Formats: sequence, C-alpha cells, structure tokens
Amino acid sequence: MSVLIFAELDEGKLKKSSQEAIFYGSKVAGMLGTSATAIVIGAADQGELATAGRFGATKVLHAADSKLNEVNGMAYASVVAAAAQQEGAKVVVLAKSSLGDAMAARLAGKLKAGLAPNVIDLPDLSSGFRVKTSIYTGKAFAYNELKADVKILAIKKNTIAPEETDATASVEGFTPTVADSDFVLKVTNTEKATGDILLPEADLVVSAGRGLKGPENWGIVEDLAKALHAATACSKPVSDLDWRPHHEHVGQTGIKVSPNLYIAAGISGAIQHLAGVNSSKVIVVINKDPDAPFFKSADYGIVGDVFEILPKLTKAVQAL
Ligand code: FAD
Repeated sequence: MSVLIFAELDEGKLKKSSQEAIFYGSKVAGMLGTSATAIVIGAADQGELATAGRFGATKVLHAADSKLNEVNGMAYASVVAAAAQQEGAKVVVLAKSSLGDAMAARLAGKLKAGLAPNVIDLPDLSSGFRVKTSIYTGKAFAYNELKADVKILAIKKNTIAPEETDATASVEGFTPTVADSDFVLKVTNTEKATGDILLPEADLVVSAGRGLKGPENWGIVEDLAKALHAATACSKPVSDLDWRPHHEHVGQTGIKVSPNLYIAAGISGAIQHLAGVNSSKVIVVINKDPDAPFFKSADYGIVGDVFEILPKLTKAVQAL
C-alpha cells in the first residue's frame, strides 16, 4: 500500500502545484506509515523526475509513451488508475488544476474511490478519514468523511508550503496499456499562456480592471508585475473587451487564483470577481471610489487614482 501522487509537468518541469501535491502526499504517507510514489506522464528527463524526491516521493513512475505527450484528461486518468492498481494505492493525490479537474472524477469512477475536491488541510485520521475542503468559492468549509477503500484528494493550490530536502527519488518506467477509447477526446489546439509566470501557479498577482480605461494603459500594471516578479491578471470585462488575453481573466467564470499577494487595481470587486480571488492570502485594493465593494474583502486598501499609485508602488519596489 502506498500513497500515489499524480505530478503534472510544464515543458518537462514539475509544476509548483505538483510539488505541493507531492509534499502533501508524502505527509499523508507518513501519517499512514507508508511511502509516497509519484506518477508523471509525458516527456521529461530523468534528472528532473528524480527531483520529486526533494518533496518527499521515494519513487517516480514515468509513463513516457509518445501517445501521452499531448495532455489528455481521459487517457491520463486511465494511466493513473493503472498505476494506483499496480501500487495498491489507497490514497491518490493530485493538484486541483484544469487537468486535475478533468481527471479526478474519471479516476474516482475507475477506482470506485471517494473523491474530495478542493482539499485545504491534511486529513484527520483520528476517527476514519476526514478531510477539510473549501466550498462555495471559498466562502465556507466542508468536512468530508471518505469511507471508500480508495480515497482521491484534489489539493487546492497554496494549501501547503513544501519543504525541500536533498533527497532524490528512484525513477521507473511505467507502460500501461492505454485503450484507443481513451483518445476519443482529441486536443485540436493548445495556446501557451504568454508571460514568464503562469497565472494559476503565481505567488504574486497584479490584476487590473476597467478602471485602467484602455489597453494602452497596461504598461503601469506590467511594470509593477515585473518589479514584483508577479503574474498579471484582469477582470472579465477587460478580457471581453480584448484589452487583455482571456487566459488572464480571473473570477467565477475565469481562472481561480490563491496567491500569497493579490493586488487589484481599478477593479470594483463584484461578487463574480471575488469568487476567483478571495482565497488569496493578502489582498491589496487600489480604487478611487472609497465605497468600492472590493475594500470589504481587502487586507490593505488604498483610496486613490491607479495612474498615480501604480507607478509609485513600482518605484518603491524597485528601490528595495
Ligand atoms: P467596473 O465594475 O467598471 O469597475 C471599475 C472600477 O475601477 C470601479 O470600482 C471604479 O471606481 C474604479 N476606477 C475607475 N477609474 C479609476 C482610477 N483612475 N483609479 C482607481 N480606480 C478607478 N467579472 C470578473 O471579473 N470575473 C468573472 O469571472 C466574472 N464572471 C461573471 C459571471 C456572470 C454570470 C456575470 C453576470 C458577471 C460576471 N463578471 C465577472 C462581471 C462582474 O459582475 C463585474 O461586472 C466585473 O467584475 C466588473 O469589472 P471591473 O471591476 O473591471 O469594472
């Protein structure tokens, strides 16, 4: 019996959310007195795979079949289910991400497992297997008792800060039989998000809304993001107006982020926007209207004009 963690790659490197999932899985393995094995799908070099050991995995299964190089939630769920069966895994951990969402329920079906989505803490094993999850877009918590033999935990990003060691994991090839029926869903096009820092993975986010007046003014947002080494984001109307690309749109109908710092400039704070950002650790709101609803959710608020405040903040950060 082991704990199996599905670890995602981005251009051959372990994603930050997967490092967190591996660390989380290794903690659960420790609680259960077993070891943590990671499963990685797609092309990656052995050295990178072995770094899973730094986050607590003792072994990595690598499914490198070229058919699997294209990300495919259906086929990946079959591979992870086969790995879980081979390893006799009773707990399967994955990051709550777009791919994780596409896989989790399929995986639960294949393994007849109990699924806890959006897990935000280590399980409580004092009586059964209880996990705390975030529900209603972060407004409430639920405690879930998982009674099925196999348990699947989808971990919300930034739930746990991984501690690193010098350990390396052993790497083994894994070649499951993948049926043609797993490929009925075909990815016809992929678009790589621009920018150095991926928004869903970002620790720091500088976001702006319609208060910026037009796309020509985004330089002041990008300057602050660059100074902070942060990702940029925007409200829905901004991407609907084509001022910014859709992959920057955060909120109920966009990307959900939970960075350590979310700076919102010229965004009113509508409930649909908050739904995607309100689990950020620290929220800073800049708005010229002191009654803007966003101030109610802010840890720090600056009443003022974004065109004055953003360049000042950038200068202050650059001077650090
Ligand atoms: P506005 O509401 O126009 O606010 C602009 C703000 O900028 C104002 O508060 C204003 O005081 C301030 N401002 C103006 N000039 C300045 C200045 N010079 N300096 C400082 N402040 C200034 N929205 C999302 O963001 N994400 C979603 O996922 C989303 N999903 C939705 C789903 C549904 C079903 C619906 C109905 C709506 C959804 N919306 C979503 C839209 C949402 O309701 C709001 O309309 C939207 O978030 C408002 O965007 P905004 O704050 O950029 O613009």
